[in-house]
Amino acid sequence: MRKKKVHSVAKSLGLSSDALIKLLEQIGIPAKGHMSTLTEEEIKKVKARISEEKRRVKKEFTQRWAKPKVKEKRKRISKEEIKATVKSTLAKLQKRETKKHYKKETSTRVEPKPEEKVVEVTDFMTVAELAQALKLAPSQVIKKCMDLGLMVSLNQRLDLDTILILCDELKCKVKVVSLEEQVSAEGEYELVSRPPVVTVMGHVDHGKTTLLDAITKLRVAEREYGKITQKMAAYQIVYNEKKVTFLDTPGHEAFTAMRARGAQVTDIVILVVAADDGVMPQTIEAIDHARAANVPIIVCINKIDLPNANVSRVKNQLAKANVLIEEFGGKSICVEASALKGIGISDLLDAILVKAEELNLKAPINKLAKGVVIEARLDRGKGNVSTILIQEGILRKGTPFVCGAHSGRVRELLNERMERIPEAGPSTPVFVLGFSGLPPAGEIFFAVESEQKARELAAQREIIERNRKLAPKSKLTLLDLQEKIKSGEAKELKIILKADSAGSVEALDEKLQELSMEDITIRIIHKGVGKINVSDVLLAEVTGAICVGFHVGPDTNALEAAEREGVEIRTYRLIYEALDDLRAAMLGMLEPKLQEILIGEAEVRAIFNIPRVGTVLGCYIRDGKAIRNAVVRLIREEKEFATTKIISLKRFKEDVKEVVAGYECGIGLEQAPEVQKGDILRFYKIVEENK
Ligand code: GDP
Repeated sequence: MRKKKVHSVAKSLGLSSDALIKLLEQIGIPAKGHMSTLTEEEIKKVKARISEEKRRVKKEFTQRWAKPKVKEKRKRISKEEIKATVKSTLAKLQKRETKKHYKKETSTRVEPKPEEKVVEVTDFMTVAELAQALKLAPSQVIKKCMDLGLMVSLNQRLDLDTILILCDELKCKVKVVSLEEQVSAEGEYELVSRPPVVTVMGHVDHGKTTLLDAITKLRVAEREYGKITQKMAAYQIVYNEKKVTFLDTPGHEAFTAMRARGAQVTDIVILVVAADDGVMPQTIEAIDHARAANVPIIVCINKIDLPNANVSRVKNQLAKANVLIEEFGGKSICVEASALKGIGISDLLDAILVKAEELNLKAPINKLAKGVVIEARLDRGKGNVSTILIQEGILRKGTPFVCGAHSGRVRELLNERMERIPEAGPSTPVFVLGFSGLPPAGEIFFAVESEQKARELAAQREIIERNRKLAPKSKLTLLDLQEKIKSGEAKELKIILKADSAGSVEALDEKLQELSMEDITIRIIHKGVGKINVSDVLLAEVTGAICVGFHVGPDTNALEAAEREGVEIRTYRLIYEALDDLRAAMLGMLEPKLQEILIGEAEVRAIFNIPRVGTVLGCYIRDGKAIRNAVVRLIREEKEFATTKIISLKRFKEDVKEVVAGYECGIGLEQAPEVQKGDILRFYKIVEENK
């Protein structure tokens, strides 16, 4: 009988040899290693085992999801339990025994009966505020705090855990109200139609800026507006007596960064694709960002004036990228234009109005104004100037407001010609003067009833922000996703996939799709060639995905962003490693392990042999950074020939912890076997996966 080698059987089954060997062990077939051979009979047994495993997992999931109610109930109980545990631990920490009635009280508080009076509390209330909310004398609250071993003053702010423990002790039923809820209370409001907010996205040089300029020219030509003195990151035009707001925030990062802060600003994305160049990586990126945000796309095929323009090719490419235009039976309106020659601009504006009508955009009007910071800068004459896009209500001069940790009173409202205006309604961008500092883009702006309230809220937020910065951000890892899949909370494994070549991207994409099972699917939110960048990390953050790099790592900024935002980056050098990990996560069999993250790359430019020290390599950091103790892979002609470690890192004569791209340095390696000039060093950081 013909026998096959383990590694070739593994390959045909889409497994790694290690995984196959483990499986063989489980079914009692001894296999020594990758080169051992298997009979047809044994291969059949393996296949049967895999099918059995798949069936079992499928069945498990079907059963689990067939009873969502039970699942929900279970989930809630466990949350309560967690809360109760946290609180009892806190209480214990404060050297106080937890009383028995504690747990009982907790459950009634979390789910209060509707007829019971519930007191609203917020994170970081002061002792005085809490006492007022609970209708108690402040001294009673202070006494309770002392019982818990806490020495507090009247104006001291308490964190939410402490507040909940106090309320429990005082037998008060409370509801936790977030700061947002505090200022923008739910209610019945009159809704009015509002203009659409449009963002232009697309590949570099495809004509986004020229298109926005053409639209501005049209507006000026219409004499709707006079001379624009100050370019605004957001502006409104009037077309056919209807207003349209454009956001001029370059780069897709800004779009997603705003979403990461919870601000969904854009209603419509204009996807600019140059007719001579076609769909390019950033076109795909734009499509994926718009899709992840659930924002409709209007396609603008630009540069049709060029002799080598090929509109039908672009349409086909778009169809391949799953953007189906109306002509092809899809939903996306497609406009052909030349931003440079001013052709098709009114068609595009017509398309925007049609889409806006279809979206039926409305905003509440008779409530306190709410908006989003589009940008903020320091003006020499005017001080802090923030561009706010109003989303709800009407903002008027003199209104007190809070925006992140900043508060103030609207000193002046200006339009883009720096003219004073008395008020601004939904979808209107305005310059707001009166900020105490510069808020970050994407920060939510709230008008509040009084300046005092604004100050209080800003102070609370500052504390929350400080605490948030101090607390390690919980990271969404593949292991977490595995837990979510196991508990039935997640049915998808979302991935941002980057690789070194289009071929690898396609191959991996195809293989990953094959991993999808009936009940758990792999969803590639975005795929592309090149390093993992900030835009990828932000997209992963807002969609709950992980970044997978195949032969590519994150760039320095992306690495920082991932650490800051708590996004997991996994890099692989072998297709089977990647597939194994993801499959294992889907089947709930992923084990925590050490991960290598590519952090930088250097070129060897000189080799010094220093007596008593050994070999020191004079290197130029081409990308990312080198850090002391990093694992190093030595590469020559794209092939890895050794693995070692950095033992010394020097800039001139100084020992340093890290050296970033663009600098030269001296690197000492644990072993430097036959390193030559021109060799490449790739640096990896070893991290332990969470949990
Ligand atoms: P962006 O990077 O997407 O903002 O692209 P730009 O608006 O800066 O345009 C890139 C280049 O393409 C510039 O040289 C423009 O003059 C040119 N361009 C933009 N639109 C058109 C067009 O409709 N036709 C032609 N021929 N060139 C255009």
